[in-house]
Amino acid sequence: AKKQGRNLVKPFAPSMQDELAKRVRIEGDLRAAIRKAEIVPYYQPLVDLKANKIIGFEALARWKTASGAFIPPSEFIPVAEEAGLIVELTDHLLRRACTDALSWPNELVLSFNLSPIQLSDRLLGLRILKILGDVGFPPHRVELEVTESAIIQDAATARIVLDDLVNAGIRIALDDFGTGYSSLSQLSNYRFDKIKIDRSFVASFETNDKQDKVIKAIIALGTGLGVTITAEGIEEESQLQRLQDLGCDIGQGYLLGRPAPIEEIARRSRWHQDF
Ligand code: C2E
Ligand code: CA
Ligand code: CA
Ligand code: CA
Repeated sequence: AKKQGRNLVKPFAPSMQDELAKRVRIEGDLRAAIRKAEIVPYYQPLVDLKANKIIGFEALARWKTASGAFIPPSEFIPVAEEAGLIVELTDHLLRRACTDALSWPNELVLSFNLSPIQLSDRLLGLRILKILGDVGFPPHRVELEVTESAIIQDAATARIVLDDLVNAGIRIALDDFGTGYSSLSQLSNYRFDKIKIDRSFVASFETNDKQDKVIKAIIALGTGLGVTITAEGIEEESQLQRLQDLGCDIGQGYLLGRPAPIEEIARRSRWHQDF
């Protein structure tokens, strides 16, 4: 009651209520959408910047509503997390992505995003491996992208879950590197196979000498630790050039390929396209 009373006098109360109403609407629609398989993975190429070829794809969730409109993951993933639908949604997306990836050439990897809260679920490893087993997709071709916040939430459980996955042959990438806190302590606490430099660094680094140095240092760090470095959000030729000069291993971004539905990727059959 106290909260409501306060809301009444706050000038931005209506927008907060609009926000809540929107969430409730999305939550109801989301349940139905998962059931009807309206949420599907799109695929964005991961490019080896030294060999100039595609080494795999990152699955990115897309919700196409009945009206043909797209709702971005930034809007429905948080709702799925809060509504307790993230497990169901992830299982559905992973099954779909692995099934799609069965038709790819054998050496290509499937990279898949996990929500931070999922790493506090001790059964996550079992569930993921069950899905891979059902579909017949090999764990060594799967890479899971996690953010540091996932590990900070419940470090002990995260370690158990990550160990289960790593022991099965799955690789782990530390996503959005540089945006959170204690990035460096995560690196010494856990052995990641890959670090993905957040696109905010790539976006500003040619105009900002300090960013350039930061990227350089992250690449050196990766080399020292024996961790593969991926740069996200490459939009311009000059950014690609600079990253290649700095010895960055893998690149991803609109310049190299936008996220696309499986039909489009298969149709273009650009698996081994050179860049
Ligand atoms: P992310 O994992 O950091 O994914 C990269 C985001 O950058 C994607 O946005 C991608 O479309 C976008 N991107 C790629 N290249 C460029 C570029 O050159 N320029 C710009 N401006 N953007 C680029 P998207 O698909 O909207 O996904 C947003 C976030 O939603 C993802 O960030 C990830 O955290 C989350 N997400 C997406 N799919 C899933 C999923 O299946 N499960 C979970 N748990 N989270 C997901
Ligand atoms: Ca990602
Ligand atoms: Ca990222
Ligand atoms: Ca992200």
